[in-house]
Amino acid sequence: MKKVQGNDSFQRINYLYQISKYISGKNSALSSYYGNLIISVAKKNVLKIHPDMKRQMCKKCKCILINNISAKMRIKNKNKAKTIEWECNTCGTRRTFPASKNKDHRVWLEKPESVVEVVQ
Ligand SMILES: [Zn+2]
Repeated sequence: MKKVQGNDSFQRINYLYQISKYISGKNSALSSYYGNLIISVAKKNVLKIHPDMKRQMCKKCKCILINNISAKMRIKNKNKAKTIEWECNTCGTRRTFPASKNKDHRVWLEKPESVVEVVQ
């Protein structure tokens, strides 16, 4: 079997993400702590964080944004273009993303095949 370089780090990041997500609604400070850990593990190993994972992290406090739990999500229509706005409940930072048409809006992390280990 071929060994994939950086695979252990990816699994670690995935694991930290699961913890951060699980704890997000209960303890936002701890969620931020794990979010920052994800970033430092990625940096140390020169790995790119998956854009969908990055999207779910608050730009400022790095906690995982979950709709109605740790964040508020709104879908807006601007000039016929749909955008998704996320507001972090912890620090109030807002981010807006374009909602692409005909795209599966579930991020890859929520698809069962991408989850290494679910902490729940
Ligand atoms: Zn925040």
